[in-house]
Amino acid sequence: MAILNRFASDTLILYPRNLNTFEQCREQYKLQHIDKLRVRTGFKRELERGIATHAALARCLNQIRQTNSVTADLQKIARSTLKRAKYPDSKTWLEDVNTVAHLTKIGLSLLPEEAHILAIEETLEYPFRGDDKCQPFILAAKVDVIYVDADGSLTHLDWKTGTNGQVDDIQNNVTRLLVGVRYKRAPVHSSTAYLSSGMMHTSILDRDEVMDTWAKVQDIAHEIQTTKDWHPTRNPLCPWCRFYTDGCTLNPNRQNTSNAPTWIQAAM
Ligand code: SF4
Repeated sequence: MAILNRFASDTLILYPRNLNTFEQCREQYKLQHIDKLRVRTGFKRELERGIATHAALARCLNQIRQTNSVTADLQKIARSTLKRAKYPDSKTWLEDVNTVAHLTKIGLSLLPEEAHILAIEETLEYPFRGDDKCQPFILAAKVDVIYVDADGSLTHLDWKTGTNGQVDDIQNNVTRLLVGVRYKRAPVHSSTAYLSSGMMHTSILDRDEVMDTWAKVQDIAHEIQTTKDWHPTRNPLCPWCRFYTDGCTLNPNRQNTSNAPTWIQAAM
């Protein structure tokens, strides 16, 4: 973390998820990133499968990088990356072991055969030193895999294990901006692999997008650094927000959360 050492310890660090959260709901951003309110989210199968699949793919890609092939048993890898202790019973765990092995196999099949892997699960950072419009901040993103294709182009690839097939524009643009800065190559392809369906979405960063994305990031950073307004914004993702039943000021039952799932209707 050499970059962090050269910046004040309280310098704002912005990952795509921070930018998205602030855009979506300021109160959620404040509760999560400023107040650092911790709420128990409980066991979520989809989340556990996602974490385990990312870990299994990273392990396989490391083997590909070292030996140019994967000889490992995917079922065995899935068993070691999916934490049995988090599951209520063996049957559910074994079902998810099979899913993780299956998703890992699909992910590996989507990687081009000629891909030369440069990085696996790398965190990229760009320290912005500030100007008359915006105070210093650090823009950061974690990239699942970066590789050079047979034609010499650079690709960063993001694994998606859920069923939501939407492309996250902020994540895509910020990541390829950082990849371009870090590796100083063009073009930079942004690929999202939807492992549940086996589909890939790929786009290429152009100059206008670089300018637009950077301007938007600076605007949001400036807003975060200067705002006193942390109002909640009801949105379709509220039921998945960790503060939905505990913390959100729109919840009329927040002192007694037993009836919390009804708060959205009550607030409308
Ligand atoms: S539940 Fe919705 S309105 Fe409340 S903090 Fe979360 S995202 Fe914002």
